[in-house]
Amino acid sequence: MAKFLLFVAVIAVIYFFVRAANRRGKPPAAGANAESMVRCAHCGVHFPSAEAMSMDGQDYCSEEHRRLGAGP
Ligand SMILES: [Zn+2]
Repeated sequence: MAKFLLFVAVIAVIYFFVRAANRRGKPPAAGANAESMVRCAHCGVHFPSAEAMSMDGQDYCSEEHRRLGAGP
């Protein structure tokens, strides 16, 4: 019986820590801690919007990808 109670106590402690961790640590949204990130319409890489090459409402990571246009 003592072993059973110990087992229950361990489960309760684990449950408590999981609950606490979930409440504290929602992962921040992507790029929330930096300047806004944009996604290259050609290769899909994410990079700071300050470096974006924009055309027709799309953002590209480089002049070459802007020239190549949106990927498949
Ligand atoms: Zn690109």
